[in-house]
Amino acid sequence: MPYIMIVEKLTIKESEIKIVEEAISSTFERIPKESIIITDDNLSQHYGKYLKDRQCIVLPNGENTKNLNTIELIFEQLINYNADRHSFIVGFGGGVITDISGFAASTYMRGIRFGFISTSLLGMIDASIGGKNGVNHRMYKNIIGTFSQPEFVVTNPLFLDTLPEIEFINGMAEAVKHLLIADKERFEELYEKIKSQDQYRQDKSASFIAKQAKIKASVVNRDVKESGERKKLNFGHTFGHAIEKISGIKHGYAVSIGMVIAAKVSLMLGMLQQEDFDKITYVLDKIGLPTEHQIDTETIFDTLIKDKKKQGSDIHFIGLESIGSAKILPMDISELKEIYRRTL
Ligand code: NAD
Repeated sequence: MPYIMIVEKLTIKESEIKIVEEAISSTFERIPKESIIITDDNLSQHYGKYLKDRQCIVLPNGENTKNLNTIELIFEQLINYNADRHSFIVGFGGGVITDISGFAASTYMRGIRFGFISTSLLGMIDASIGGKNGVNHRMYKNIIGTFSQPEFVVTNPLFLDTLPEIEFINGMAEAVKHLLIADKERFEELYEKIKSQDQYRQDKSASFIAKQAKIKASVVNRDVKESGERKKLNFGHTFGHAIEKISGIKHGYAVSIGMVIAAKVSLMLGMLQQEDFDKITYVLDKIGLPTEHQIDTETIFDTLIKDKKKQGSDIHFIGLESIGSAKILPMDISELKEIYRRTL
């Protein structure tokens, strides 16, 4: 009998999220036999032996694949596989693959059943959880999509053994974000640990992933359709998205800079203490994430204004009252620009 342990079981509506400790082969056995698996070329290279004899759609890896052309290609292949309303799709990969496969599954024949096997840190703690699926359109990220929960998400941290380090660090930005908006105690724990060793050591344990997934799931459960509370998950993303678009750096790396800016704005508004701000930049820096940028204010704000989260001239800026406590601040863009200038 192979060793199987479910470390954490979370639910969002009808969706079941399991963080497991088991052999990779056992995780593949969880995939219903008749499923059509959507994955990318990196994963099919690493885990090809488990995909043999399975119906697979293999996409080029990376964010550039996340568009409507890919969705059309997937639909064509689903038709070739004679997929019907009873078919089951499994997205096996990082956030790009789960976003794409969730969107394809929830629109093909008005929606068929689907599940995810999440393989990147960012996917395990964030993208696979919460039922947001979608693709990008030209410059606009995630502008086409659905809210539709996967039937299951299975997360086996052993997949992280093949994840490149740069991708692990990328995912850590969202992990730090979770702690900053919702878990002071664990942020302080992380801070003390890094400080005592004068370096950050990667944690790929199931318990770390489980704690992180729990934060995301609990925020989503309080506000599935993002009408309030769930917006807090956008902490660092207002500036992060703009920086990502302008500079082309990875999402997590841009969000890291965005979190520092958001913390600085919070400091300027008298919400956050200098000591907490210093801890945030220290932790991000030790993890290997950037905390500064060289982009001029006009370029940032031109891009920010085009961002889809803008509502009229108001945005919902997410600030920090303290570590572990985020606050939604409805703000006029010109007001934000003024405060931002003062942080420079
Ligand atoms: P990704 O899926 O592109 O994965 C990053 C890279 O790592 C890819 O090259 C992939 O092939 C590789 N990879 C993934 N797992 C691997 C493994 N186990 N071994 C070897 N290589 C592996 O990107 P990501 O960082 O996982 O996710 C980013 C995407 O997630 C973005 O498109 C973002 O918009 C989306 N996202 C969605 C949500 C949501 O709520 N739906 C939330 C956050 C982010």
